[in-house]
Amino acid sequence: MDLGIKGKIALVTAASKGLGKAVATQLAIEGAEVIICSRDPESLKIAEAEIVKITNSTVHTFSCDVTNEDQVKQMIDLIEQKYGSIEILVTNAGGPPAGSFGDFSVDDYRKAIELNLLSTISLCKKVVGKMQLQNWGRIVMITSVSVKQPIDNLILSNTARTGVIGFMKSLSNKVAQDGVTVNAICPGYTKTQRVEKLAQDFANNNDSAPEQFYIKLEADIPMGRIGTTKEFAQSVAFLVSQGAGYITGVSLKVDGGFAKGLF
Ligand code: NAP
Repeated sequence: MDLGIKGKIALVTAASKGLGKAVATQLAIEGAEVIICSRDPESLKIAEAEIVKITNSTVHTFSCDVTNEDQVKQMIDLIEQKYGSIEILVTNAGGPPAGSFGDFSVDDYRKAIELNLLSTISLCKKVVGKMQLQNWGRIVMITSVSVKQPIDNLILSNTARTGVIGFMKSLSNKVAQDGVTVNAICPGYTKTQRVEKLAQDFANNNDSAPEQFYIKLEADIPMGRIGTTKEFAQSVAFLVSQGAGYITGVSLKVDGGFAKGLF
């Protein structure tokens, strides 16, 4: 199926590893002109080489901390100068640390909000106007299934990410008549380095092995397994496709049935 995004300029942030890298790879497979960023230039180089090897296409890289608004502005100005206006934006960032109510100060919440909410807002502030002028754009915000059902011991993530959904829905209404769709995608447990770290943290805190984390987790997922990054990336690719042009303001779970609510 041709997704209709060949040659589209696509920025995927926080994409040197995990979900972001998988999305960048998938968009490159679909023929988009892909730009990735993350903080560590070495990880970016490795990711670039991996994506080029898989897709045989060019990938552009920028070292950028998405919590730093000046860096975001500079990166997007450079992208526009070198490659043209961004047509597809997939926002992503790292996850805040695990823990519950007693573990964190107000400043920890502030940092989590900067990481997951304000980074999304500053990226959108820079690209939305040009998308409206072009009368075409796709924005997908990577959040978490925690926006549907809070996850135990992830209070910072549970708190910061719900703001992204309020922002996503408000923005989607504002730009709906300009050919720009805005959606959120909500991964359940998907096998990346972050999940491997959560498994290790669980093992350390419970004096057990990381495998126990997966056994416990998978027992709570109707599909009986955690997801793959490829499955996640293909869902994002659909949301940015021409065919998804009438889908906006949606928070799509990609979680194997993990969240048990109706919506
Ligand atoms: P990951 O494997 O740890 O990868 C995180 C990526 O984000 C890396 O490329 C990292 O590169 C980059 N990054 C982190 N902070 C950044 C920043 N401030 N600015 C720019 N880049 C940054 O994580 P993941 O599993 O792919 O998860 C991605 C997001 O989805 C996270 O927010 C996570 O909490 C969320 N999520 C994941 C799952 C899951 O099961 N995997 C489920 C629900 C939600 P640098 O270190 O080089 O910056």
